[in-house]
Amino acid sequence: MIPVTKPFIPPLAEYNKYLKGIWKRSWLTNNGPLVNELEIRLKENLGVPYCLYVGNGTIALQMAIKALKLEGEIITTPFSYVATTSSIVWEGCKPVFADIHPKTLNIDPSKIEALITPKTSAILATHCFGNPCAIDEIELLAKKHGLKVIYDAAHCFGTTYKGKSVFHYGDISTTSFHATKLFHSVEGGAVFTTDHGLFEKLGYLRNFGHDGPEKFNGVGINGKNSEFHAAMGLVNLRHVDQIKKRRKDQYSYYLNKLSGSSVQFIQLEDEVGFNYAYFPVIFKSEKVALEVKRVLEINQIFPRRYFYPSLSKLDYVSGNTPISDDISSRILCLPVYHELTVEEQDLVCRFVLNTLN
Ligand SMILES: *Cc1c(COP(=O)(O)O)cnc(C)c1O
Repeated sequence: MIPVTKPFIPPLAEYNKYLKGIWKRSWLTNNGPLVNELEIRLKENLGVPYCLYVGNGTIALQMAIKALKLEGEIITTPFSYVATTSSIVWEGCKPVFADIHPKTLNIDPSKIEALITPKTSAILATHCFGNPCAIDEIELLAKKHGLKVIYDAAHCFGTTYKGKSVFHYGDISTTSFHATKLFHSVEGGAVFTTDHGLFEKLGYLRNFGHDGPEKFNGVGINGKNSEFHAAMGLVNLRHVDQIKKRRKDQYSYYLNKLSGSSVQFIQLEDEVGFNYAYFPVIFKSEKVALEVKRVLEINQIFPRRYFYPSLSKLDYVSGNTPISDDISSRILCLPVYHELTVEEQDLVCRFVLNTLN
């Protein structure tokens, strides 16, 4: 069986070492020493000034929306994981969908301005598949119209833009360390900002608003994560360079094998240091995509329709995004994960190419 992804599993002995410490301290959660250490290591690894480790990538988005006090309408992408849209709705705001660029699959900045109304408070864009959005254009638009910017950077561990971690950009960037992501801590996520005031605000939000045991600084939520999760993050962080290297090799291998066929690949933005986290393939039609999926599945290979449906089609929102709808219908992510072998990649490619011919 070849799934679309498999979590990276580090050597057990490395995790056990951390468990011993947790047992000794009996400090299991509430911003313990391993959570602190993970935040320090992440800041070093990514070169970012502020980072808060949180329970998951969805609470990270919700905290970002709260911290920026967003209300009314948020312009967002229809081509992402459902959490990007559902977080906006969960926070009582209205998602307004700007269609995507057909080659990068990111929100098309030229479609944003026409959607701005007096009710618009922010732009929430996903760096889809780890490919950064048109950051410069989005920043210009946001400045011009006084909007906040949040980036859902859940796919972006290790991605750089203009030589800096992509987590640097926007008022707040969020990410996920879910087990399916390139770097994971089983469950987990983080919020990043370069603004000290926002960082402090996010710290209160993460911990029920606690400002000491008996004092509160505003409404908060439980956005914390545990020592056990932080330990997994610390162990996996030691392997992340190796994970990234392997992903890059696997990406090049697929690219090489499948180019020359009728499939289309995503176009990377300029000045990107890519993390090769996913391998999306766009087919000529939905019919072809579904046929490839069917053939792979009978051979025990399980690609996924990332991302389907296009989010403006969810029944609790509305929007008109024909490009996203079209791409969603005919895209598949092929298997990529650390243990995937060249032989397995060959097998995947053979079924894909045979179906196309
Ligand atoms: C995975 C993902 C999320 C959600 O992260 P969780 O940690 O699972 O809550 C949000 N946005 C995108 C784009 C994702 O891929």
